[in-house]
Amino acid sequence: MELEELPGVGIATAEKLREAGFKTVEAIAVAHPAELKEAAGIGESAALKIINAARESLQMGFMTGIEVLEKRKTMRKITTGSKSLDELLGGGIETQAITEFFGEFGSGKTQVCHQLAVNVQLPEDEGGLGKSAFYLDTENTFRPERIIQMAEGTGRDPHEILENIIVARAYNSDHQMLLIEKAEDIIREKNIGLIVVDSLTSHFRSDYTGRGMLSDRQQKLNRHMHTLQKLSDIYNLAVVVTNQVMMRPDFFFGDPTAPIGGHVVGHSSTFRIYLRKSKAGKRVARLIDSPNLPEGEAIFTVTKDGIRD
Ligand code: ADP
Ligand code: MG
Repeated sequence: MELEELPGVGIATAEKLREAGFKTVEAIAVAHPAELKEAAGIGESAALKIINAARESLQMGFMTGIEVLEKRKTMRKITTGSKSLDELLGGGIETQAITEFFGEFGSGKTQVCHQLAVNVQLPEDEGGLGKSAFYLDTENTFRPERIIQMAEGTGRDPHEILENIIVARAYNSDHQMLLIEKAEDIIREKNIGLIVVDSLTSHFRSDYTGRGMLSDRQQKLNRHMHTLQKLSDIYNLAVVVTNQVMMRPDFFFGDPTAPIGGHVVGHSSTFRIYLRKSKAGKRVARLIDSPNLPEGEAIFTVTKDGIRD
């Protein structure tokens, strides 16, 4: 269905909407009225009507339990390379969801992201989606050399694997948000099955310092997470984000994983996994909260070949 077929959308409005990134009826259906208002220069009530029409045409809104189950059946999982970590996650990283890895510097967050950018490309019967990765790098820690090692570790052609990772550098938090808001073209053209945002929070931390800016930061981050969630739903892809935290010095009392300065991300991630270093190069992953999985821990290692048990 074309945008022009929605009641209230003429050729000019459709053009403006497309330019602003609302290219499909699906994208309109999950938009916020204020977004459309800004994009197309229309009134709030007109925007609401268009959104409702899009939802109706897609029969969105209410779903029966069976319909939710049908949608869940299209959900796929990407292997992490470690059986024990996969088990903790109920089989791997889920599509239609945001998975957050948080932990201290050097805990292995970026390594996991690299591995997933390789593994998403594996065929389904080997734990992948047979799709490409979109890697948003905010800390300049994406390393093609590391991808080559990991590709070789799974017996793949490193050149082909690198070819199917689209890397974008974000220079500040606004740029980061823009790159994700404009990602739909790339997602469709390149058949993206995984979006990595490594790190989700570093730019937001440095762009919004000081107490007075906390609520601004939170608002922007919420919007960013909302966009990511929408993309994961519409395109049935997995979103993986990282969040660097510092251990609280008073961790003997209360929650040792509560980061200094509070959780920037809050609870908008579907899955939250806390990573920490352990003895002999081992890493411990702890599932913090999940809608359908028990809390637990898994142990994995980072080897030259990548993430392993
Ligand atoms: P962060 O959580 O800060 O993103 P990283 O994912 O960058 O942490 O983890 C860095 C760690 O990964 C290194 O300290 C090292 O232990 C491990 N690592 C990185 N590259 C390799 C490699 N080629 N072989 C084995 N281990 C590696
Ligand atoms: Mg990192």
